[in-house]
Amino acid sequence: MADGDESSDELIHVFWHDGMLAHTNSSSYGVFDTLQDPGFLDVLEPHPENADRVRNMKSILQRGPISPYIRFHQGRAATQQELLYFHTPEYVQELIAAGKSGGKFLCSGTCLNVGSWEAALLAAGSTCKAMQHILDGHAKLAYALVRPPGHHAQPSHADGYCFLNNAGIAVHVALMSGYKRIAVIDIDVHYGNGTAEGFYERDDVLTVSLHMNHGSWGPSHPQTGQLDEVGRGKGIGFNLNIPLPNGSGDQGYEYAMEELVVPALGAFKPEMLVLVMGQDSSAFDPNGRQCITMEGYRKVAQIIRQQAELHTGGKVLVVQEGGYHLTYAAYCLHAALEGLLSLPQALLSDPIAYYPEDETFAVERVKQIKYQYNSLVQKARTSSS
Ligand SMILES: [Zn+2]
Repeated sequence: MADGDESSDELIHVFWHDGMLAHTNSSSYGVFDTLQDPGFLDVLEPHPENADRVRNMKSILQRGPISPYIRFHQGRAATQQELLYFHTPEYVQELIAAGKSGGKFLCSGTCLNVGSWEAALLAAGSTCKAMQHILDGHAKLAYALVRPPGHHAQPSHADGYCFLNNAGIAVHVALMSGYKRIAVIDIDVHYGNGTAEGFYERDDVLTVSLHMNHGSWGPSHPQTGQLDEVGRGKGIGFNLNIPLPNGSGDQGYEYAMEELVVPALGAFKPEMLVLVMGQDSSAFDPNGRQCITMEGYRKVAQIIRQQAELHTGGKVLVVQEGGYHLTYAAYCLHAALEGLLSLPQALLSDPIAYYPEDETFAVERVKQIKYQYNSLVQKARTSSS
C-alpha cells in the first residue's frame, strides 16, 4: 500500500485498514443474525456481518481483472472530534464505554466486542481519509472499503450492525471544506435511516435511499423508509425515500435511477456525490430480496458516474455498507466499480446470475413514487409554515 499523489480518472483509490477485520458481533453461531441456537439445526452460521465478507471484497480488487485500475491506500482511525461532526457527545461516550467492556449489545445483532471499537474508528477515519483524498484533488474516484458498516447509525444511537455513520461523518468533512451541496445515494437493500436522520433538517445534503420495503424494525430503527419521510423544516424536499417491491431486479433499479434519482440530482445540482453501496441488494443475499445481478450494479454505478460527470466534475466517494453473500457480494462490488470506471466492456462475467421476471411491479411503484413525492413535499411545507 502506498499513499501516492497519482491522480487519474482511470483509477479508483481504495482506502482500507486490516484493523477493521478485528471487529466481531459475536464469536457464537446462530440462526441468521439472532446468534440464537434454537436447537433444531446441526450446522449454524456466523453473524452475516463478519470479516470474511470484506476479505473477499479486498482480494477481488487485488486479484480480479479490475486490479490494474485500483490503488490501495492505508486507512486511519477517526478522531473524536470527527465523530462529533455527526454524533452526539453522549452517544460517543456510550460507545467508548461499551468498547472497553466488550460484549455489549447496543441493539439486536449489533455488538461491540474486543477490537470492535478500534475497527469502528478505522472505518470512520478511513472514509474521512478517502473523502479528503478527493477534496485535496488527488483523485476523483475513491472507495472506502470499510466495516463495521455505518448507514443505520443515527446521531444518538446504533442500529443494524452500525455504530458510527462513516458516510455521514465524511459528508461533514466535505461541508466543512466549503462544499455547499452534497448528494448521498444509498443503494444498500436497507433504508439508510441513520444518514437520512443526520441530515433530515438540512437543505445542503440531499439524501436518497433505494431500499426494500422493510419498514421500521423496532426502537433502534423507528424510521419507516416510506415516501412521506420527506425531511423536516428547511430539510423538506431533501430526503427522498424510494421503497421498492421485493424482486425489483436490474431493470427496476435502473428505472428508479433514471426516473427518480437522475431528476432529483438535476434539481439539486450536487458538488459532490457519495454512493453508499451495499451488495445486499443482490440476487443471492441472505438479508435482501431485491435480486440485482452484477449487471444491475454495473449499470447503477455507470449512471452515478454519468451524473458525476454532469454535476461534480467526476467526483464520487463510494462507501461500503452491507452485502453478506461471501462470493456474490465481492463479484457485485467488482461489477459496480467497473461501472464507476465506465469501462466499455464487462471485465468479469457473472458466475450465477438469476433474473426475476416481475420487474413490472417496480416500474409501477416508481411511477407512483414520482407522482406522489412532490405532493407530499408540498403538503409538508404547507403544514410546517
Ligand atoms: Zn443492508
